[in-house]
Amino acid sequence: MKTPLCDFDMDELTTLVENLGEQKYRAKQLMRHIVAFDCFDEYTDLPKTFISKLKESYIDRAVTEKTRVTASDGAIRYLFETQCGDLIESVYLPHDYGNSVCVSCQVGCGMGCVFCASGRYGIKRNLSAGEILSQVLYIARDKKACGGINKIVMMGSGEPLANYDNTLKFIRLVNSPNGLNIGMRSISVSTCGLPSAIEKLASDGASCTLSLSLHAAQDEKRKCIMRVAEKYTVESLIDALRTYFDKTGRRVVIEYILIDGFNDTDSDVQALKDRLKGLCCHINLIPLNPTDGCDMKPPPRKKAYAFCEKLKSVGLSATVRRSMGSDVAGACGQLKNRTAESKIIKKIP
Ligand code: SAH
Repeated sequence: MKTPLCDFDMDELTTLVENLGEQKYRAKQLMRHIVAFDCFDEYTDLPKTFISKLKESYIDRAVTEKTRVTASDGAIRYLFETQCGDLIESVYLPHDYGNSVCVSCQVGCGMGCVFCASGRYGIKRNLSAGEILSQVLYIARDKKACGGINKIVMMGSGEPLANYDNTLKFIRLVNSPNGLNIGMRSISVSTCGLPSAIEKLASDGASCTLSLSLHAAQDEKRKCIMRVAEKYTVESLIDALRTYFDKTGRRVVIEYILIDGFNDTDSDVQALKDRLKGLCCHINLIPLNPTDGCDMKPPPRKKAYAFCEKLKSVGLSATVRRSMGSDVAGACGQLKNRTAESKIIKKIP
């Protein structure tokens, strides 16, 4: 298997160029091609001998498009294939205020949340930083005419903090002035909640927007829908969020899927109030997107908004998220699961 060039940062690329006997400045030229998602044939300002040497050990593109589905609201769900034939999904979301890309960071997911299609077949492997970045670079090139990409959300398949090193490297690459130069504030990392990794992210200087997929404020309830809750308590997660806020100054986001009759009652309002007291946060309420093989349902729209009002009445900041692209095979992992070529990975025991 060859290494994708997009796995390299500027320093690594400089070393690579020098090791192949070329001048340092070639690294900048190379980086420009990588960021433009060019193929080797488009590296026209580089010597042919150098390109031949590159081709021996490296590949120009880490993903190729397998298929795409476009929603009526302009959202596009892409299914990509990696060099070794794994399938991953990314979503392009156009907004009046800029365009976002939602990326996957693992092939499958090992977290086993019951409502989530991405983890239905377990995890196969982590994606490299370059494989995560390629999803953005491909879409940025594809949608160039629409003004490029302004925002990244790590909310596709996989758990970013369980693939910590590659996630951090991806954030640095996409944030780099030599890369797409997307500001930390415009990069969101969503996690099911791994407390020590949350704190490490803050210490490592990645001051991106952090979203915690809480979904229930009581441990027993959370354990019913999220396997990770067996390991970490809600209290330990909120403590980690406080540390994150103290170190980065960034307001955190609480993701809260609304499941009819399960986590949208008055006692849930009270539990959220008690748990989130004094934490600088905003709650994103997401009506559950029904997935194949899961019989939980979202509450009626009116009930979702009433729940939101109740949260506000106890002093919490909350909104109901407008769902985009729900007619392009819904929530994470569903397009892949519905693709005939999709291989069953490893069943969760
Ligand atoms: N592992 C990370 C990121 C991937 S999931 C995390 O857990 O945050 C991204 C978001 O989509 C999470 O908030 C997740 O809980 C949510 N999600 C997954 N399946 C969903 C569904 N069926 N309906 C609504 N949201 C869902």
